Amino acid sequence: MTRKRALTGYRPTGKLHLGHWFGNLQNMLTMQNEYDAFYFIADWHALTSDWADTTRVREFTEEMVLDWCAAGLDPARCTIYRQSDVPEVAELALYFSMVTPMSWLERVPSYKEQREQVTDKDLGNLGFFMYPLLQAADITIVLADVVPVGEDQLPHLELTREIVRRFNNAYGEYLVEPAALIAKQGARVPGTDGRKMSKSYGNSIFISDSPDEITAKVRGMITDPARKLKTDPGDPDICPLHQIHKLVSPDPADIAEWDRCCRSAECGCVAHKQKMATDLVEYLAEFRARREELAARPGFAWEVLEAGAAKARPVTSEVVETCRRLVRIDNNG
Ligand code: SF4
Repeated sequence: MTRKRALTGYRPTGKLHLGHWFGNLQNMLTMQNEYDAFYFIADWHALTSDWADTTRVREFTEEMVLDWCAAGLDPARCTIYRQSDVPEVAELALYFSMVTPMSWLERVPSYKEQREQVTDKDLGNLGFFMYPLLQAADITIVLADVVPVGEDQLPHLELTREIVRRFNNAYGEYLVEPAALIAKQGARVPGTDGRKMSKSYGNSIFISDSPDEITAKVRGMITDPARKLKTDPGDPDICPLHQIHKLVSPDPADIAEWDRCCRSAECGCVAHKQKMATDLVEYLAEFRARREELAARPGFAWEVLEAGAAKARPVTSEVVETCRRLVRIDNNG
C-alpha cells in the first residue's frame, strides 16, 4: 500500500531549541516511518517577516539541516528540501493569488495578531499579507494528503482547503485538499524565565548549545519564585527547572526525590540546578556527537538539500505543468 504523503516546514529564522525538540521534532521522527514525509525549510517564508535582514537565512538553513539529521531524520527515509530550490511553489502561489479573495487573507487570525504584536519588524509588506497563500502552495505543490497541525493552526489549513476548492471549481478537480493531522501535543517546555520557550523571548536553551552554554543557562534559570530561602519549602509543580528536568532525567526515582526534598525544604535550588544541567548535557550528548560529526563533513547540509530537491522536483514539476494546462496557459493548444 502506498503511504500517504505528509508535509511540514520550518522557517529558518533561528536555531532549534528544546521547545522544538519536544514538540514538532519528535512528531517528525515518527512521521518519517509512517508517511511519505516531505520536510522543507521555508526560506521564502523567512523573508516575509525578516526581509529587511536576510544575512543569516543561509546559516540558519544549514544549521536546521544539521539539527534535523543529528536528531534522527534520515534523508533516505524522508524528503528534506529547501523551499526556494523548488520554484514551482512560486508559480502555484501566483495562480492561487488569482482565485483567492483578499478578504480571506485579511481574516486570518494570526495575520491581525502579528501585525498588532510584532513591533520590531515592518510587517506591512505584501509578502507577509499573502504568506498563508504561499503556505497553501507549499502543501499543494507536493499533493500532500495530510499536514500535522496544532489546534491553533487549523484556520490556516482550512484556508488552504478553501483555496484548493476554489481552484478546482474554476479549472477542474485536480489538486488535493489536505487533511489535518492533529499533531500529538508535545510537552510544554518552559524557557529559562518561566515563560513558554521562544526565540523571541530570549529564554531558549538551544539543542546545539555547548555543555558550557547549557550549564550557564540552567544556572540562571528561574525556579519556584516564592522560594526565597533554602529553608522555605518549594513547589516543584510551578518550577520551570523541574519541568525540564522531568523531561530529560534518565531516572524517575531521582525526579521523585527532588520533588520530595524540595517540598520539605531539605534541598536547595543550586544543587538541583547542577544536577539538572548534568542530566541535560548528558541527554543531548548523543545528538551533540552526531551533530559535530555531520558538521565536520564539508557541504553535508547542502548535499542533503540538493538531493531532497531532486526527489521533490518530479512531483512539483508535474503539478505545476498540470495546473498550467488546467489554467490554459500552456503551449499545447
Ligand atoms: S529545589 Fe528544585 S524543584 Fe524546588 S524550587 Fe528549587 S529548583 Fe525548583
